[in-house]
Amino acid sequence: MSPAEAKNRIESLSAELKQHNYNYYVLAMPTIADYDFDKKLEELGALEKEYPEFADPDSPTQMVGGDLTKDFVTVKHRWPMLSLGNTYNEQELLDFDQRIRKAIGDNFEYVCELKFDGLSISLTYENGLLLRAVTRGDGIQGDDVTTNVRTINTIPKRLRPGNYPDEFEIRGEVFMHLKAFERLNNERIENGEVTYANPRNFASGTLKMQDSAEVARRPLDCFLYFLYTEKLLFKTHWESLQAIKEWGFHTNEHSRLCTTIDDVFKFIAHWDKKRFELGYDTDGIVIKVNSYAQQQELGFTAKSPRWAIAYKFKAEQVETELLEVSYQVGRTGAVTPVANLKPVLLAGTTVKRATLHNADEVEKRLKLHEGDWVYVEKGGEIIPKIISVNLEKRKADAKPIVYRTTCPACGTTLERKEGEAAFYCPNDEGCPPQIVGKMQHFIGRKAMNIDGLGDETIETLYQKKFISHISDIYDLHKHSDELKQLGRFGEKSINNMLDGIEKSKQMPFEKVLFGLGIRYVGETVARKLAAYFKNIDRLAAASLEELVLADEIGERIALSIIDWFKDETHRQEIEKLKSQGLQFVTIEKEVNLASEKLSGQTFIISGVFEKFSRDELKDIIEQNGGKMVSSISAKLNYLVAGDNMGPAKLEKAQKLNISIISDEELLKMLT
Ligand code: AMP
Ligand code: ZN
Repeated sequence: MSPAEAKNRIESLSAELKQHNYNYYVLAMPTIADYDFDKKLEELGALEKEYPEFADPDSPTQMVGGDLTKDFVTVKHRWPMLSLGNTYNEQELLDFDQRIRKAIGDNFEYVCELKFDGLSISLTYENGLLLRAVTRGDGIQGDDVTTNVRTINTIPKRLRPGNYPDEFEIRGEVFMHLKAFERLNNERIENGEVTYANPRNFASGTLKMQDSAEVARRPLDCFLYFLYTEKLLFKTHWESLQAIKEWGFHTNEHSRLCTTIDDVFKFIAHWDKKRFELGYDTDGIVIKVNSYAQQQELGFTAKSPRWAIAYKFKAEQVETELLEVSYQVGRTGAVTPVANLKPVLLAGTTVKRATLHNADEVEKRLKLHEGDWVYVEKGGEIIPKIISVNLEKRKADAKPIVYRTTCPACGTTLERKEGEAAFYCPNDEGCPPQIVGKMQHFIGRKAMNIDGLGDETIETLYQKKFISHISDIYDLHKHSDELKQLGRFGEKSINNMLDGIEKSKQMPFEKVLFGLGIRYVGETVARKLAAYFKNIDRLAAASLEELVLADEIGERIALSIIDWFKDETHRQEIEKLKSQGLQFVTIEKEVNLASEKLSGQTFIISGVFEKFSRDELKDIIEQNGGKMVSSISAKLNYLVAGDNMGPAKLEKAQKLNISIISDEELLKMLT
């Protein structure tokens, strides 16, 4: 590859990967397989190493930081990060407008912006490169969170060319999109972890994490809205917003220039309703005097600028009666409290339930009492929450609600692990919602993805005493006559189900491992474990020290795995599943057919394969004497083609009459 070609390739790979990052992190809708993404990232990394002169500091290779900063360094802000004056009603806003008119006359404009509900961040750029990112802290000094902020894709690490000064500061709000918030919170439920109450907490918790590899996995975004330069570059705030957008910053498209206070009110009225359609949380509007000269004239109070104010939306809140606190038991045994409310209309929907998260929320924060009247609020999220209690309506003799000490489903005494907010029912072998939940998890789309078998069927089959363990699912075929006699399922659907179950025995080890539902072993962790330990016996025998050596496995996950395998019933279940023919070995080990069968032959692998990673196929080829080459030419013998292969490659191979084979055909060549 010539330097010019390398430069081109680096640029096109960077652009492509950035788009994928955006799809993944911002839209939460990836359009590329993780594997292909990793390969491309690897290729880019290798090229950047060889041609550092073409490497872009903003490169996707720079975004996934793996380095651990033990403590954040405190940094003093060059310009203090002040707060804004708040108003909640129109009169106060009219007063603000009057104060300004008194000071600078009637000739001025406002910029209206949404007030994003995240956490503020101050970024410093030097010569167009991101130098530092600091949280607001106490306004005078904050935490240096640069390593974490570098993982935020919409924050440029290098600016586009522009008329910016050598050094400047820019401020904005880091936040998490609601979609991503829901996806990640659901993942946490699946993994048996405690959920975050709202996107802001999730975002701020994330930015303060010590492990920036984990930060990179949690999609954050950032709107920038204040530019600070030593010498004034622009006459107005509005101009600066246009400029920073051109330099590459993410600005919010809904900001408006308003010439009258009536326009401001219209802006407020519009967003008071429309904000629920935004996809991220806002809690008000920020109104800023546009001209910098006029801002200077107006100056500051001790706490905030006189030229700006925040108008806070009244959250849609209603008062209703608490009927009862009930409890849900998840598949991991985590017990979550739910408030059952007297039905009430809120933001267009009838609300009957609200999440209470955990015992501390019930007993410490809200201190709920029986028959309490509570204020319920709905943010952008789907599930409403209880904000506070109307103490005036509490009866003198009302009893405090005590978090239950036994499992609502099976009566077992609940346990709480040190440092965890959730209570767990430890009776995982005898607690119906856990038993059913575990089987439902196992058959789920991301795990074994069994055709013809759904959550309701699992529930029914459990109630009819056909199944109580995963392994019972694989014995169902022995009971097909009884199933037919049940009268609940048609013959065809029973056959479909049994077919689907039989086929699922071919699902790779990593899916089986995820399906087992070990706490904290989510999809990705299962994949890493399968790749590292290769089979279940090695995993089961691994010590804490061995476990944490695997990619991305920390102590918390390791301890949970050790705990799981200590349980004799779990070990027996694994043995049974093994005898039923499920996969407990990572495929590459099975095909350890080292031979000379492919010697003298050249191969290229392209596309995605269901059973193998491309690295695994490459190993198979090389272990059997075959040679991998990097480009398609007339000398190539075989193209091993999977799904989603590039059409250009395919066309070229066809033109040159190269044998195009599948992974199965490759394996056949070895037998
Ligand atoms: P408060 O914390 O209520 O005093 O509000 C001030 C905070 O609002 C600032 O520190 C920013 O973090 C945040 N904020 C959100 N959106 C904006 C915006 N468009 N302009 C200025 N500040 C904003
Ligand atoms: Zn229980």
